[in-house]
Amino acid sequence: MSRNWTKIDKSPEIYLYEPNQKIGEEIITKTKRRINQNFFRKIVLSNYNENCAICSLNHVSLLVASHIIPWSKNKETRLNPHNGICLCSIHDKAFDQGLISFDEEFKVIISPQIHKIKNNAINNYFINFNHREINCPRKFYPSSDFLSYHRNRIFLKSS
Ligand SMILES: [Zn+2]
Repeated sequence: MSRNWTKIDKSPEIYLYEPNQKIGEEIITKTKRRINQNFFRKIVLSNYNENCAICSLNHVSLLVASHIIPWSKNKETRLNPHNGICLCSIHDKAFDQGLISFDEEFKVIISPQIHKIKNNAINNYFINFNHREINCPRKFYPSSDFLSYHRNRIFLKSS
């Protein structure tokens, strides 16, 4: 038996069952999460004028609404715009892995694990931005508490 789907968002992966059909718990959970993630992404990207906060790359498909406190670590902060920074894919990945972080003045700090690598691409993507302040958000600054959590729990301080 085929099921009817109702499109509820521009994003192609977001669908809901028709109301007269049996709805599985898992489907509701996944759908809600996707809607929330999409909402979070829109707010965070718009907050930074759709530019990477570090390098200003501005192609939307290469931008990520990066969580300061990871999605998996804290339910309360998942959708808080003060827990989001718009980063390009490479800076998001490095932030997620603790290879970069931000100090109390919103300046980029770079892990010794990156510093020890001598390479032009490393210089271009990372060393060039060391101690540079992030692009100013329009409305929601990253929370100092969340950034402190990232520096203390995720940032790789040793080489
Ligand atoms: Zn970037």
